[in-house]
Amino acid sequence: MSETTIPYKIYLHEHEMPRQWYNVRADMKHKPAPLLNPGTLKPMTVEELSGVFCTELAKQELDDTTAYIDIPEEILKFYKMYRPSPLVRAYCLEEKLQTPAKIYYKFEGNNTSGSHKLNSAIAQAYYAKKQGLKGVTTETGAGQWGTALSMACAYFDLDCKVYMVKVSYEQKPFRREVMRTYGASVTPSPSETTEVGRKILAEHPGTSGSLGCAISEAVEAAMGTEGYRYVLGSVLNQVLLHQSVIGLETKAALDKYGITPDIIIGCAGGGSNLGGLISPFMGEKLRGEKDYHFIAVEPASCPSFTRGKFAYDFCDTGKVCPLAKMYTLGSGFIPSANHAGGLRYHGMSTVLSQLYDDGLMEARAVEQNAVFEAAEQFARIEGILPAPESSHAIRVAIDEALKCKETGEEKTIVFGLTGTGYFDMVAYEKYNNGEMSDYIPTDEDLKPGFDSLPEM
Ligand SMILES: *Cc1c(COP(=O)(O)O)cnc(C)c1O
Repeated sequence: MSETTIPYKIYLHEHEMPRQWYNVRADMKHKPAPLLNPGTLKPMTVEELSGVFCTELAKQELDDTTAYIDIPEEILKFYKMYRPSPLVRAYCLEEKLQTPAKIYYKFEGNNTSGSHKLNSAIAQAYYAKKQGLKGVTTETGAGQWGTALSMACAYFDLDCKVYMVKVSYEQKPFRREVMRTYGASVTPSPSETTEVGRKILAEHPGTSGSLGCAISEAVEAAMGTEGYRYVLGSVLNQVLLHQSVIGLETKAALDKYGITPDIIIGCAGGGSNLGGLISPFMGEKLRGEKDYHFIAVEPASCPSFTRGKFAYDFCDTGKVCPLAKMYTLGSGFIPSANHAGGLRYHGMSTVLSQLYDDGLMEARAVEQNAVFEAAEQFARIEGILPAPESSHAIRVAIDEALKCKETGEEKTIVFGLTGTGYFDMVAYEKYNNGEMSDYIPTDEDLKPGFDSLPEM
């Protein structure tokens, strides 16, 4: 197809939209290692997981064989409010960079939650409602997941209790108010409302909290309240499954115009957007049909893939969750306080960890000044103020496009633009004031995290 017939933004018609999620585990030769019960070290069963998660979600979590799972009608209906998300050709950025590369981004920031997290939030809220639950509990770091979940719970009239990492609770009061506007209750974590919170506060008075700690509190709150379950916005297999809608739409849009990407890039915190974006493409690679170059981008200050260990670890600080085999810095790892750009979870999706260990994708760590430089360049030329998390992917997309400029290669690059950054202006302010520092942990800094890994 000639260049001029490819629109600036590729949208799908309703009948072209995915009606099933794709489960990449079905095509993996080496399946991700099972979640283990921390007491018995035996693989978790659906029954055990159902104490914490909704039953249907527990089943999805453990299903390594069903390739396609129908998206329920109610979820398809909700998706229609903000999907399809556009696949945009970054013509202006290409021109600015003077690169022969073709750059596309899949923009997931086009909903009030401001990120891709709504794709899984609505699915998890739906299954909770269907099971007849009263509500759900969760943690949130930067606040995108809490926002997405409170929107989803409002839609299905479910109660939503959010434990928000204390430093974010204090630094992002507007995020908090969005969640409350959608009816959620928001508690700064660690708090006095849970046993694990009280214990952490006693051991570390004045702590500003962490994701691992907020997870422990949210799990305890769910287990201790009749009619409640815990939900998580990343890392889990079920979340990657729901997020496959990103990749399926991307693939349908590219296929529609006969475009084949060479490089697919995503930022990686717990791995949900990256896993969702690459899943259908990775499926082709796993089945030997096509080859793609996948790049996971993580912060140099929280380098789970590039410097972590592939080992069984705790998913939370309080060690109440199942053990997962993943690339991890250890549940005791705490990123440096001057790290501003999200993506601060110590571990990584077990699916992506296995794919990475099998050499099926690359991972790169980038420093935050370079990330914000890319964010600003993108904001000024493409008209979207990107989330700091998303800007990790922008950084590497620009780097790859600049390589093409040197070699003259006309590669097609696709990256995930996971969200907008309007609630991250404190970080942007720091960058604009020239006060952002790059901090790369030394091996010494990483040691306490590794020492916290369980002996297996
Ligand atoms: C949460 C979030 C991420 C990182 O989470 P993943 O599970 O790794 O995708 C990236 N970008 C945005 C905008 C987010 O809100």
